[in-house]
Amino acid sequence: MSFSDKFSAALQREIMFLVVWVLFMLTLGAMLGVALPMMFVALVSYIVWHLYNLNRLIKWLNKPSKNTPEAIGVWDEAFFKLHNQHKRQKKSRKKLSKMLKRFQKTTKALPYATIVLNANNEIEWFNPASKTLFGLRNGLDVGQRIDNLIRQPEFIKYLSVKEFDTPLEFMHQHKNLLLNITRYGQGQYLLSARDITQRILLDEMRRDFISNASHELRTPITVMSGYIEILQNNIDEENRFPVEKIHQQTLRMEKIIKELIELAKLETSTSITSTEEIDMKHLLQEVYTESLALDQSAHEININISDIRVNGRYEEIRTAVSNLLTNAIRYTPKGGTIILSTSSDDTGNYIHVKDNGAGIAIQHISRLTERFYRIDEGRSREKGGTGLGLAIVKQILDRHGAQLQISSQPDVGSVFSCYFPYK
Ligand code: ADP
Repeated sequence: MSFSDKFSAALQREIMFLVVWVLFMLTLGAMLGVALPMMFVALVSYIVWHLYNLNRLIKWLNKPSKNTPEAIGVWDEAFFKLHNQHKRQKKSRKKLSKMLKRFQKTTKALPYATIVLNANNEIEWFNPASKTLFGLRNGLDVGQRIDNLIRQPEFIKYLSVKEFDTPLEFMHQHKNLLLNITRYGQGQYLLSARDITQRILLDEMRRDFISNASHELRTPITVMSGYIEILQNNIDEENRFPVEKIHQQTLRMEKIIKELIELAKLETSTSITSTEEIDMKHLLQEVYTESLALDQSAHEININISDIRVNGRYEEIRTAVSNLLTNAIRYTPKGGTIILSTSSDDTGNYIHVKDNGAGIAIQHISRLTERFYRIDEGRSREKGGTGLGLAIVKQILDRHGAQLQISSQPDVGSVFSCYFPYK
């Protein structure tokens, strides 16, 4: 590295100045016969000049003003650069504080409670909606630990476990709240919560309505069905066809009502508390045998299962697998192959129902578990479908902390898998 690379232009000039100054004083001293004292004076005056400028710099740094002190040489450059940096910092500080004000204004207007927490769960900032939702008080609650102010056990557990991927729903002062926590910055958390009491009430009303309506309809339809069966036995040939059609539709209605009631029952409790270890081999064998009877050799149905361990409700899991197998039979043309199998990986156990039937186009897959969602309504109806089978499967799996995974390709076939993650 050359001299000019090592030292800045200003420093090079400064060194030149020092050399010239010392030489000048030495020459003057030599002429007067006091060379060494003159050199000493040259160096001392040079140091004093630097100390003087250093003092001005410290003073300016303590109280930076718009104008930097006038100086020459290396000090002029240092002051100039510091002045520019100071200007830039001031500008970016202004911009930052403007942004912060805008952020605070926005979050103040938010209907959601927004609270900034530090790594110790102490409140650093909160917006006005937090006062209404959590009763936080200006001035008093900043610096307080949030778990001392919101003492709800579910919330305290959620906060301590620190698994914030799924939001928390909990009751606080007679309100249903939905809470999200996001990590940001250096160990800070942004907590946002909103009141979902109205939504929950509406959901309950909808569920109650469907459940009540289904229960109310069940009795008249059962009575109708009974009379139609009697009619069928005492009818002349002329009227046999319409009565047969009425009978079919009544059976369909009975099935829809039965499934709606089942769905409503599953929905009333969202997760299962008491569970048993399911004898999965037995369960799958049972569903398989049942499906053979239903299929009446229209397809080749194979089974390939191992002894996987899953905790849950036997009857519910049986219904879920049975619905998947019934669908495979329903939507696979005669002669097709259906396989009921199990597998496991590092994360959990699976039950698969695979078919080489009609398959499903990708745009339908995410909607299949909606109630009454059918790709081809006519076909589903003709095959005895209600459009509720997969909604029931999803509800059952949700209650078990499991998931329904679907992979399918039109005209190739589908795999419906129940995934039970290890707890
Ligand atoms: P449905 O009573 O109509 O069968 P489901 O909720 O069980 O209602 O299924 C919803 C829709 O998903 C069905 O109407 C059908 O279009 C599609 N589906 C379900 N299983 C399969 C499958 N194995 N192959 C092709 N399509 C399927």
